[in-house]
Amino acid sequence: MDFLTLTIGKQKNIALIAHDQKKHELIEWCEAHKEILKGHFLCGTGTTARMITEATGLPVKGYNSGPLGGDQQIGAKIVEGRVDFVIFFSDPLTAQPHDTDVKALLRIAQVYDIPIANNKATADFLITSPLMSEEYEHNVVNFHQNIRERASTL
Ligand code: PGA
Repeated sequence: MDFLTLTIGKQKNIALIAHDQKKHELIEWCEAHKEILKGHFLCGTGTTARMITEATGLPVKGYNSGPLGGDQQIGAKIVEGRVDFVIFFSDPLTAQPHDTDVKALLRIAQVYDIPIANNKATADFLITSPLMSEEYEHNVVNFHQNIRERASTL
């Protein structure tokens, strides 16, 4: 398969998402890493974004609430190259009505080789990485090529 080299800039476009039982943990995490987060562009699912802004003062652009399509909006931004980093404190102990959307977001982040943390320890390692303040080149599937090949062979 053919790959394209894309660059995650020094200033990342970070999406913040937390399931209900994890929202306070994510707010505390944002407060703890506020100085680093201030240097990046932040967005998130609706309720999470609003709660982080109210608690920490960080500007977080809110999309729809997760169960109403917010995870899908963030997935679409990944596809468009407008989100390149995800902190997603998901709840492994509670059934979610939008489980399929959550899976879709995890899958698309994997397809586009996006750094994604699903728990606090991973988020701590990611946010303190020296790569947070550097450009990072990574390879993603060349979708134009992929479509050309599929259209001519299927
Ligand atoms: P919320 O969505 O931030 O609107 O609560 C998060 C989610 O449950 O996916």
